[in-house]
Amino acid sequence: MTSSRDSDSLQADVLVIGGGPAGTWAAWQAARDGATVVLADKGYVGTSGATAPSGTGVWYVEPEAVARENALAAREALGGHLADRDWGHRVLDQTYINLQRVADWGYPFPVDEHGVQRRTSLQGPDYMKLMRRVVRQVGVKVLDHSPALELLTDGDGAVVGARGLSRLGAARDWTVRAKAVVIATGGCAFLSKALGCNVLTGDGHLMAAETGAEFSGMEFSNAYGLGPAHSSVTKSAFYRWATFRYADGSVIDGAGSKHGRSVIAKHLQAGTPVYALLDLANEEERRFARGAQPNFFLPFDRIGVDPFTQQFQVTLRLEGTVRGTGGLRIVDERCATTVPGLFAAGDAATRELICGAFTGGGSHNAAWATSSGTWAGAGAAAFAKTAGALAHTRPVRRDDRAGLDGPRVLDSTGLIAAVQREVFPYDRNLFRDPATLRDSLVRLDGYWEHLRGAGSATDRLRAREAAAMVATARWMYRSALARDESRGMHKRTDRPATDPSQRHHVLSGGLDAVWTRPHRSAAHEQPFLAEAA
Ligand SMILES: Cc1cc2nc3c(=O)[nH]c(=O)nc-3n(C[C@H](O)[C@H](O)[C@H](O)COP(=O)(O)OP(=O)(O)OC[C@H]3O[C@@H](n4cnc5c(N)ncnc54)[C@H](O)[C@@H]3O)c2cc1C
Repeated sequence: MTSSRDSDSLQADVLVIGGGPAGTWAAWQAARDGATVVLADKGYVGTSGATAPSGTGVWYVEPEAVARENALAAREALGGHLADRDWGHRVLDQTYINLQRVADWGYPFPVDEHGVQRRTSLQGPDYMKLMRRVVRQVGVKVLDHSPALELLTDGDGAVVGARGLSRLGAARDWTVRAKAVVIATGGCAFLSKALGCNVLTGDGHLMAAETGAEFSGMEFSNAYGLGPAHSSVTKSAFYRWATFRYADGSVIDGAGSKHGRSVIAKHLQAGTPVYALLDLANEEERRFARGAQPNFFLPFDRIGVDPFTQQFQVTLRLEGTVRGTGGLRIVDERCATTVPGLFAAGDAATRELICGAFTGGGSHNAAWATSSGTWAGAGAAAFAKTAGALAHTRPVRRDDRAGLDGPRVLDSTGLIAAVQREVFPYDRNLFRDPATLRDSLVRLDGYWEHLRGAGSATDRLRAREAAAMVATARWMYRSALARDESRGMHKRTDRPATDPSQRHHVLSGGLDAVWTRPHRSAAHEQPFLAEAA
């Protein structure tokens, strides 16, 4: 890696944008494969993103044929039969390898009564602190508090780096010329205040779309996390022990964490407060829960509530594509996108390949982040090797950019609030119908037109975040219109059933003109796993 005269201008073989689990695994793998690597994050690598403040269950299954087949079959129907079992096997294999590495690096997995490590869960703070250490050990240059704002492309349309801001000390611009770039910027949760999601505004989606990248599954973007109304902690696994109640303590019929979320949403939509009480947990489960996910209990301890014996008010917070499954379209096993030199990993990429239309309990996301990160890092390093010595000197083309440096000052705060009014309400995004989707799209398209040619000299990052949220909402809702059925988390009130003829992906893309088209892969020609067994 070389530094030019300008200290904020760097060169590397591979630039990784985003330093959550996907980005750190990508950076580690690329460096191990001999690439020089820069890793740039909007926040501080090790504490930023959805995993870092949380604890994640991991889709970790011993390499035993029956256990693996069961693990795949268990989620096929839930995911609307869109997942691809070959990708499922690959992710289970890679996750197994990577968690062995994590153990070798010293992660303190708990041990069961037979002395065997339990590797089905990772504590975010410990895991991400470890990942920060290992990427630095293999020579990755880490740029903290350095959000990327735009990608650089050459005359052939290949991605050759990025530009961004350094917010450490006096704000400065940075440029990294690279031979390949990995987008690992996480999903888009529209600044809903869900835990760890304050940095997840779809920036990578917008940057990639500006270079022509495509998306897949953006209709599966309406994950809502269940959590206490007074806190941002949307860890929902322990709500399997909950009964949901009215203020007077009477139980709400049909309300549940897994299958009764719609009932909860309908009550909240009608303005009826909903309470939860984790009274179905036995003594052993209560003890286990405190040890397994201590951060789940912090908001309760703070206000002196015992969630096992005292009911507390809950809400559903939009997590968008973070625990949805849509994202950048992956076209090969190295996690390449449709744009040369651009790779995608983690929540920024589509997870339909392993989850289909629904992530359910969530452990697939963590497995996907580590696996896709590894493959994208390897793919980017291999691509960089073919790029040639002169790649860093090829002239850079300026593409179509939104919300960055136009003459008109953008009211980013107002724009963000306006987008949130379109994507937060349950009766727009959780329960969808064509008239409401079109109604939102009229306004969202108008916001897009408004921000074209605008910029913000004072807060360019906020302007880009606002633009990314508008763009993401448009891909989401156009895809939701194109999927004329209900499947997985995508619920159309006018089409409550799943239509077997729509067992395909919905691809999308475009900036001024957003397009969608169906895409059927070989996996969709196969019978369902349960039928095949
Ligand atoms: C409350 C909660 C609980 C969850 N529980 C589970 C679970 O139990 N099991 C599971 O499998 N999954 C779970 N998930 C999902 C899981 O956390 C994510 O799938 C995982 O974090 C994805 O990793 P990532 O690296 O793709 O994204 P993230 O971890 O979100 O990291 C993205 C990184 O990109 C950076 N970034 C964003 N924009 C830019 C930019 N412009 N420039 C530079 N950097 C940028 C961010 O700062 C961040 O560090 C949970 C999510 C939430 C919100």
